[in-house]
Amino acid sequence: MTKPLLLGGEPAHSERFLDVHHPYTGARIGVVAMATVDQVREAFRIAQAYRPALSRYERADIMNRAAAMLRMRLAEAARLISLESGLCQKDAIYEIGRVADVLNFGANEALRDDGQVFSCDLTPHGKRRKVITMREPLQGVITAITPFNHPMNQVAHKVVPSIATNNRMVLKPSEKVPLSACYFAELLYEAGLPPEMLQIVTGDPREIADELIGNPHVDLITFTGGVAIGKHIAARAGYRRIVLELGGNDPLIVMEDADIERAAELAVQGSYKNSGQRCTAVKRMLVHASLVGEFTEMVVEKTRHWRYGDPMDADTDMGTVIDEAAAMLFEQRVNAAVSQGARLLIGNHRDGALYSPTVLDNVHPDMALVRQETFGPVSPIIVFKDIDDAIRISNGTAFGLSSGVCTNRMDYATRFANELHVGNVNIWEVPGYRIELTPFGGIKDSGLGYKEGVQEAIKSFTNGKTFTLPWA
Ligand code: NAD
Repeated sequence: MTKPLLLGGEPAHSERFLDVHHPYTGARIGVVAMATVDQVREAFRIAQAYRPALSRYERADIMNRAAAMLRMRLAEAARLISLESGLCQKDAIYEIGRVADVLNFGANEALRDDGQVFSCDLTPHGKRRKVITMREPLQGVITAITPFNHPMNQVAHKVVPSIATNNRMVLKPSEKVPLSACYFAELLYEAGLPPEMLQIVTGDPREIADELIGNPHVDLITFTGGVAIGKHIAARAGYRRIVLELGGNDPLIVMEDADIERAAELAVQGSYKNSGQRCTAVKRMLVHASLVGEFTEMVVEKTRHWRYGDPMDADTDMGTVIDEAAAMLFEQRVNAAVSQGARLLIGNHRDGALYSPTVLDNVHPDMALVRQETFGPVSPIIVFKDIDDAIRISNGTAFGLSSGVCTNRMDYATRFANELHVGNVNIWEVPGYRIELTPFGGIKDSGLGYKEGVQEAIKSFTNGKTFTLPWA
């Protein structure tokens, strides 16, 4: 049983609690405070009043220490993720490794000087002066709001750049998975982080979200989640910087020259890892007509062997999705697609929050299953006839996050790189491929503002300043 973690505002005095349940069994596995609007205001007041003064060395040291502690506590932390999210242990263990990477990359960035020096005697009217640039933390407080699908890594991607830049953050994790965020915060406090630099508020977003967006101390809102709430934040934020990392509908495109076995392996990995709940999961398989038969057979075969079930079992390849409501939505979308002519080849079995990996072919790009984001382990196969067709279908949704392409032809690779309306193009990789340091994020409905990834986030979390001085 996970011990109750009570953070946010004045949690010890909170009379209202939020229960956290294990999606596989429904058992109550923890409890957090349900913060009031007044407690959220107090968190911002504390943050605004505090001026972080950690040296670069101290910030790096805290993050490296937290990474080392997390690696030591891998089993405990991964267990917590599986318990509250239903993600299987394999996925949770992988996530902890990523979180430790984020911390180490953040530490490296904190140590890297970011200033530039410009001489001013470059033109006839220049002077013997120099311009020096530097990056400063924000004057106000950062609000961070995170989704459920990577309970700790999404939180790490907000918190680490904030620490690296000596900012103050108030973070609201998803009410579906608040325990991993609290665990991460406690780890950082233990590693030496002043608590004023990171406060976690947990609660009901219908009650506290407006304060998180509109509190006068907020300078930046960094949000990762669905399009609807992202656009709601954009409409309410007013004169504040916003960073929105939103939904995806990523294709894996299989060209006629592809090695079919290798492509099918990428397809299932990209579709089912993390229970299909990645913004960059493969949500559409676009396959050239000449090899769709063989490709589909291989995907079905691999799906048959994908072990799904108890998230806590070390051999399970896929646990539950986040809750029963999500599983029911996938079931409904698949049934609707079938009623419109799609063919169900395997899957679409539901038991509570457990939803089996599912493959359909004869899928048309207009079906809601593939036009909207279906955030679960569903593999819809769509046929195309040539590269123009593949690019047209790929670009034909409101989303533009990432993509994966299976081809060995350089002419195809460069056309996809130039013509796909997305933030990332991965040749011979799943759309989700990235390292935690590099820029990551989408366009169109998939994101607005700076990208994520430790380096890019640092740019969005700071203000540039220049100062000039005489230089004889
Ligand atoms: P969600 O949009 O339902 O919730 C995200 C967060 O917003 C939660 O913390 C929630 O409590 C909060 N929230 C709810 N109402 C709010 C309001 N009125 N104002 C402000 N915040 C509010 O998303 P989810 O279901 O938790 O996560 C899945 C979504 O996140 C998917 O669409 C997925 O593609 C997206 N996602 C995107 C990325 C990316 O980097 N682009 C990464 C991971 C997930």
